[in-house]
Amino acid sequence: MSADYERTLHILLRPFGMILVTGPTGSGKSTTLYAMLSRVGAERRNIVNISTVEDPVEYTLPRVNQVSINPNAGMAFSSALHTLLRQDPDIIMVGEIRDLETAEIAVRAALVGRLLLSTLHTNDATGAVPRLVDMGVEPYLLASTLTLVVGQRLVRRICPNCRESVPAEGAAWDALRSRPDFEELIHALQRQGALAKGANPLAGIRLFKGKGCIQCGSTGFRGRLGIFELFEIDDEIRHMMTKCEDAMTIRAAAMASGMKTLFQDGLAKALLGQTTLEEVFRVAL
Ligand SMILES: [Zn+2]
Repeated sequence: MSADYERTLHILLRPFGMILVTGPTGSGKSTTLYAMLSRVGAERRNIVNISTVEDPVEYTLPRVNQVSINPNAGMAFSSALHTLLRQDPDIIMVGEIRDLETAEIAVRAALVGRLLLSTLHTNDATGAVPRLVDMGVEPYLLASTLTLVVGQRLVRRICPNCRESVPAEGAAWDALRSRPDFEELIHALQRQGALAKGANPLAGIRLFKGKGCIQCGSTGFRGRLGIFELFEIDDEIRHMMTKCEDAMTIRAAAMASGMKTLFQDGLAKALLGQTTLEEVFRVAL
């Protein structure tokens, strides 16, 4: 079990708060929410009422009350959520927060002892805070409900059948080395145990690729893999939220307290041979 998984699970199993998953369309946000709902449902079986409002329901979950909305027919997330709250669910998943009305109902629902899960379109996890404040959510309400934001992307997974290690060189490697935050990245990876500690962590480093085989249709890839950044809302961040600090300041504070960025997680997974450096550069900066 990875450390990210354990931390997410710990926050997920609290009975209240708001957890958001962010990323562009097709980044696997719904899959993550479904995985969270299944896990919390299994963990707290028969105790909780889990309900969802989705556009549309993409996947049917056992013991979960799922409602499909149809915005084209005039049924918005906000009105469906309003109706749903009368049934007093313990855990609510809202497919997406797109407008202030939905955001406000969601925040207030999470404020009164419910767990609320949803998704938001932002580039990174920390961007969720300014995004919601820009929509018009009161920063103090957000600070008292938000517990975790997961930023997420999908990369192609190297085919395990034809994976081979390749020397660390080429355009992507050069691009990595010329990043202004290269030193920081190396230190972060050493702290996380993805790179050897010591004076020359880059000595003998290997990257990987799929040579192409019959199992992967000669593409070198098979399936996909999530890369994540977990933005945990601690007291310091909460305080910054109420003071309406800007996005860059909040992100810098999160990284200073150990948040692993999407790019760092991707890079760690490239060093483990799960994906390529090119894939990481394609989806994260
Ligand atoms: Zn293959």
